[in-house]
Amino acid sequence: MKPGPIAPLGPAYAARQPMTPPLLEAVRARVRDVPDFPRPGIVFKDLTPVLADPLLFHGVVSALAARVATLDVTEVVGIEARGFILGGALAATLRRGFVPVRKPGKLPRKSLREAYGLEYGDDALELHVDALVRNAKVLVVDDLLATGGTALATEKLIRRAGGTVAGFVFLVELAYLGGAERLGSDRVVSLLTYDRP
Ligand code: AMP
Repeated sequence: MKPGPIAPLGPAYAARQPMTPPLLEAVRARVRDVPDFPRPGIVFKDLTPVLADPLLFHGVVSALAARVATLDVTEVVGIEARGFILGGALAATLRRGFVPVRKPGKLPRKSLREAYGLEYGDDALELHVDALVRNAKVLVVDDLLATGGTALATEKLIRRAGGTVAGFVFLVELAYLGGAERLGSDRVVSLLTYDRP
């Protein structure tokens, strides 16, 4: 069933779900830096301890929902694989449908494909050609923003499928890699920002 117009959660939701500084610091404390993974020279931000903590997982999803509560969004797109975790939870909180953007060869039906550059390599992403509602306004969700290549490729897919991006949501932003500037800073929401490696 395709959704009719559903109102955004709105200012009341945004006002009652603040991410308090102690909660934010608790999240930051649980992010694990893993040097030289998956390649030498990359410091991988392991978010699994945050996801495994019930209060922190609920807290980050609520806080992200609050930050986008007034946006006009028709559906949530999550980027494989870690974007599925936050994106799925966020979609359910916002009462929106969830649409996956996947690695090549995973989607079963006719799909669009975009190649892109990653902080640690090259890859491609795919979206079912009929995945979006008409004139979709999409919230794009991933765990982490590095150079922005993944998110930009996702936006290209969304535009080719007839939609536009209402906003980009990340749990972590590596600000020193300039991803937000590439995406347009006013469209980017992130909870934790790192200013240096
Ligand atoms: P980018 O396209 O450069 O913005 O890279 C973002 C994507 O790569 C996201 O899907 C992240 O999960 C992943 N990624 C890039 N760099 C890191 C990192 N340092 N730690 C964890 N994930 C990363």
